[in-house]
Amino acid sequence: MNRRIGIVGGGIVGVALAHRIAGMGRDVAVTVLEKEPELARHQTGRNSGVVHAGLYYTPGSLKARLCRRGVELLSEFCAAHGLAYDRCGKVVVALDQGELGRLQAIHERAVANGVPGMRMVGREELRELEPHVRGVAALHSPTTAVVDFGEVTRRLAGEAAALGADIRTGVPVRAITQDDGGVGVEADGDRLAFDQLVICGGLHTDRLARLAGHEGDPRVVPFRGEYYELAPGRRGLVNGLVYPVPDPRYPFLGVHLTRRVDGGVLVGPNAVLALAREGYRWRDLRPGDLAETLAWPGFRRMAARHWRTGVREVVGSLSRRAFCDAARRYVPELQPSDLLRARSGVRAQAVARDGTLVDDFRISRQGRVVAIRNAPSPAATSSMAIAEHIATWLFENDRGQTSG
Ligand SMILES: Cc1cc2nc3c(=O)[nH]c(=O)nc-3n(C[C@H](O)[C@H](O)[C@H](O)COP(=O)(O)OP(=O)(O)OC[C@H]3O[C@@H](n4cnc5c(N)ncnc54)[C@H](O)[C@@H]3O)c2cc1C
Repeated sequence: MNRRIGIVGGGIVGVALAHRIAGMGRDVAVTVLEKEPELARHQTGRNSGVVHAGLYYTPGSLKARLCRRGVELLSEFCAAHGLAYDRCGKVVVALDQGELGRLQAIHERAVANGVPGMRMVGREELRELEPHVRGVAALHSPTTAVVDFGEVTRRLAGEAAALGADIRTGVPVRAITQDDGGVGVEADGDRLAFDQLVICGGLHTDRLARLAGHEGDPRVVPFRGEYYELAPGRRGLVNGLVYPVPDPRYPFLGVHLTRRVDGGVLVGPNAVLALAREGYRWRDLRPGDLAETLAWPGFRRMAARHWRTGVREVVGSLSRRAFCDAARRYVPELQPSDLLRARSGVRAQAVARDGTLVDDFRISRQGRVVAIRNAPSPAATSSMAIAEHIATWLFENDRGQTSG
């Protein structure tokens, strides 16, 4: 009999996995269950669109390895399918001498991670690359690119379906049970049976994992990232991607300027607590979601440590001028009137019980159910490599508990 593999979640990670499994040519029936009426509605369709080259990640970590491999697979896929893949390049900009040490450390990591073409540039060369950007030095990554991850997901899904995958939308998974005989899934009134299940549930992944008997730690804390867009007449202020030197205490990269494949330029995202798992605006408040976040000891410990940053982010969220000020440190000509509100995204950031923000990708396995517990940026970049990694687990380790 065919092996039956179910995948919960039709974002880029779930769909890339279906694509991978369907393409392996094994005797496997793969089914994707997505609760929304279309694929890629959440994180995958609401991000910066950057194909990260792998600058920041601890050498040897899953993020470092799967990001580099993901770039390779994604660029090949886009080339083979005629999808836009714009290697517009990126500069990470040091505003003053005090930031040079951290910039140098990122350079060393990037080299250790095998990122090609990395170079430190001085003030003059920065001006040549980005004439409107101010800084004392920058790290230039010429291969960092942009794509439309929603479009990539739809193309992966189309090809997976052509190879036999069953991709269903409008099917919310409400219950998961597992025993020696298999995994039972209740999805919108139907009861489905699988031999193995992979949870790629993004903002709901911890809840789904708990339904399947996985431990409750870590939990997803939803952080909204708000964007503005440069007014069309001001898009010439940047040529490629302009990033600050990130604060090593946080997994977020700071407000940056990002060129999109359609020519628009995004400014953002910030990071504020979302009041619902899918809370794209301040007024999107779900008392149950918020109560769950506030009750998680890890959230309270994290908030006690980082409340000052939290307050600053909220001010930037409520005031266009404050948001503009953050970006104007890099592009002094920028005016609040240049910024038009754009749509926001919400990051599924795993926070451990001890209050640490889980930095690396985390994938755990309990019996027949694999759950992706932390897949923040650069998981869209890495999606095809995450899929390759999980497919290896599914077919090589058939028993027990693992995490990686
Ligand atoms: C603001 C922002 C900027 C980012 N920028 C970048 C970037 O530039 N580059 C990069 O590489 N990454 C970036 N990321 C990260 C990237 O978007 C995510 O890591 C990636 O999209 C994760 O994909 P996913 O498939 O795991 O999650 P999602 O895309 O969130 O997909 C999960 C899916 O599961 C479905 N689901 C949930 N519960 C159920 C259920 N019960 N039943 C059925 N379906 C369910 C959801 O509806 C959803 O479609 C960014 C993220 C954000 C939010």
